[in-house]
Amino acid sequence: MKMTIDDVSFRGRRALIRVDFNVPLDSQRNITDDTRIVESLPTIKKVLNDGGRAILMSHLGRPKGKPAQEFSLKPVAERLSSLLGKPVRFVRDCIGPDVRQAVDAMKDGDCLLLENLRFHKEEEANDQEFARQLAALGDVFVNDAFGTAHRAHASTEGVTRYLKPCVAGFLMRKELDYLGRALGNPIRPYVAILGGAKISGKIDVIMNLMAKVDALLIGGGMMFTFYKAQGKQIGKSLLEAEKVDLAGTVLNEAAKKNTRILLPIDCIVADRFEEQAQWKSVPADAIPGDWMGMDIGPQTINLFVGEILKAKTVVWNGPMGVFEMKPFAEGTNAVARALAEATRSGATTIVGGGDSAAAIAAAGLQSAVSHVSTGGGASLELLGGKALPGVEALTEK
Ligand code: AMP
Repeated sequence: MKMTIDDVSFRGRRALIRVDFNVPLDSQRNITDDTRIVESLPTIKKVLNDGGRAILMSHLGRPKGKPAQEFSLKPVAERLSSLLGKPVRFVRDCIGPDVRQAVDAMKDGDCLLLENLRFHKEEEANDQEFARQLAALGDVFVNDAFGTAHRAHASTEGVTRYLKPCVAGFLMRKELDYLGRALGNPIRPYVAILGGAKISGKIDVIMNLMAKVDALLIGGGMMFTFYKAQGKQIGKSLLEAEKVDLAGTVLNEAAKKNTRILLPIDCIVADRFEEQAQWKSVPADAIPGDWMGMDIGPQTINLFVGEILKAKTVVWNGPMGVFEMKPFAEGTNAVARALAEATRSGATTIVGGGDSAAAIAAAGLQSAVSHVSTGGGASLELLGGKALPGVEALTEK
């Protein structure tokens, strides 16, 4: 067990908090979605209410190791200040004499935000001198940035070598509770649904989940590489030719171990990759030569929904089709609705980050499932059975 923010009193102490303030900005640098700031409030408030000093650090976008105004965190300091209802001081760097001075001037209950960590290339390089300078700003390290925990950067892993204790914030703890505890020790039946464009990047997830779940449902673009491995005609559907053998191996392994992998039994095909395309539903073994698969079909939706509703633990990562185009969003939306219904019946339902999180938000069902992960990459690593460097580095209880 890792230490969490509840194990520490921050009274009179400086908390160096790694948050994820990587928020979307428009061309005028207005924040278009402040969810990530709002979600970090419980951790920040706990430090301030304890009578501690909160020193916040984050990255924003990809400034490539140099200062760039369009990636400044200044607008975030302003938004945070109005959300907290108190001033948040902003400093124009994250290390150096000005930062030291600003931190030294803090009083208990004060909050300060440092400039974008990625204005220094040392952040992603996990440079030890840079990490040491960050660590010197605090007495306790709090990591609340799940979305970057799969990367060993200076602000996620490097600092932990120079500062103790290192604890998980509330958001991080919630992610670990769901993606770690619930899926590590699932109440059965346990069903996983995987989709998205490609097998590459998800093969570890497929292999790891295969050994744990009662059923693995596969949709999205990756289904066609599996079809190909079964010798089916896939027309102009998305294909990862170099992954056909791997897909075949997965299916053989599953057959040997009696693992239930369910592939779609029908799909929606279109005559071109466009929202206005002509489309129709066909059985899996009848994809016309010059059409392409865009979504799972209605019979598959029934099959998948049935499996989801029987489950007590469900994890979902990746859309079932090209959900950005309305005619091909039905499979993804049906899965989202089924997760919501399973949740109402008492199942634990977990949505991995990225596109499935976007899809569940678009369906307005975010709060109808047990947990929507804030970290696409990090949740995939955990589902793939890997440890996250930013979590491993936290202090044991
Ligand atoms: P990923 O990033 O691997 O989770 O993939 C997400 C993307 O997969 C989305 O942009 C979907 O549009 C895309 N996708 C899902 N199904 C298909 C399909 N049948 N053909 C092409 N792309 C797809």
